[in-house]
Amino acid sequence: MTSPSFFTSLLDLLIGHHTLVRRYSGLTLATAQFYVISIGVTYHAASAGLVPWPVAHGLAATMVLVFSLFYALVRSGWSLRCSDPVLTMQHVLLSQLIVVAAYVLIGPTRSNIVVLMGQGIAVSMFRLKPRQTLMLGLWSVGWLSLAQLWLVLSGAPGFSGARALGHFLVSSSGLMALALVAMWISAIRVRISSQAEELRATLTQAQSLATIDVLTGLLNRRCMIERLEDELTHNRRAGRPLSVALIDIDHFKRLNDVYGHRSGDEVLREFAARAQAELRQVDHLARWGGEEFLLLMPAVDEAQAWTAVDRLRQRVAAHPMGESGALNVTLSAGVAQWQRGESMENWLERADKAMYAAKQDGRNRCLMAGSVDVPTPVPPPTPSLAEAGSP
Ligand code: GH3
Ligand code: MG
Ligand code: MG
Repeated sequence: MTSPSFFTSLLDLLIGHHTLVRRYSGLTLATAQFYVISIGVTYHAASAGLVPWPVAHGLAATMVLVFSLFYALVRSGWSLRCSDPVLTMQHVLLSQLIVVAAYVLIGPTRSNIVVLMGQGIAVSMFRLKPRQTLMLGLWSVGWLSLAQLWLVLSGAPGFSGARALGHFLVSSSGLMALALVAMWISAIRVRISSQAEELRATLTQAQSLATIDVLTGLLNRRCMIERLEDELTHNRRAGRPLSVALIDIDHFKRLNDVYGHRSGDEVLREFAARAQAELRQVDHLARWGGEEFLLLMPAVDEAQAWTAVDRLRQRVAAHPMGESGALNVTLSAGVAQWQRGESMENWLERADKAMYAAKQDGRNRCLMAGSVDVPTPVPPPTPSLAEAGSP
């Protein structure tokens, strides 16, 4: 008895594990039905005595060979380097040639075969570009016409005069009409996919604008508030320390007045880049407003946060900024660790007060909220059961 795992293993064997290889191998395998029908028609003609057996074997072997070649190129992953990893154009051009060869060799049942050429065009329009679809139509009609001319000139039985002309007109105009419709559908498909691409890009840009500060590339205030809320929700359960630092550039107005607004912008950008390079991956830095930044540091208590921010302060003070490298920039910061039961607003207010105290103390320093005279946190009116029961 067969089991689902047998089918899974068989499928893995046929189309592989790699997502893209699976997809493209599946598409290539789907073309096998085209070859199965063609081989069936060929052997039917041989059994009816319309085509010699060696010719039927030769045609069948060629079809198996061509299919195997394309399947191997796709299944092995080799074709991933090509612009179309299914190799649609190459595959369909070659298969149309085989059909034309079969058309010449197969005898009076050959008119069935023209349908297969139509099928080749119809199937490939879903992957080819409009221009390629037109080329495929011309290629198919061109070779079919040459084959028909050859049959007329070589006096093939049942293929001469008005009958041959009628056959030529029906088959070539049918194939060409199909190729033109295929080209039109292919153009619509290309347009829809490029519009979808534009839409995706616009959406990504809109998302980025909604979360990123354009000048510095840091998170914006709105996004930082969401991060704070997320971290607080997580922290209430995890019980880890969590700290913030409010960082403000000293005398920034004076810097703007003396060196110009552009230099001010340059300092904001440079500070953002330097701070990000200094901080841990898990820290979140946002532009909180004008020349003020908010740093959120998970799993860090107030003293550890102070050490990190003070190190950043010292580095900024030690290395002047600006294109000329002549802008001495200092910053003042206030650090506060979240206290159990405290609201976000109270927590940020303590950090703000610590930063203000740093300014009062003479700037270019970092103070901890715990070392500054700031109001103790106000517990929320109705703590949740989970919180009330936690240590
Ligand atoms: P303190 O040391 O007390 O913080 O003084 P300060 O001058 O840094 O602070 P103040 O609040 O007086 O001035 C902040 C200045 O920051 C005023 C404003 O024009 C400037 N500013 C705000 N946003 C931007 C910006 O995007 N680019 C530039 N270049 N300047 C900005
Ligand atoms: Mg300032
Ligand atoms: Mg300020």
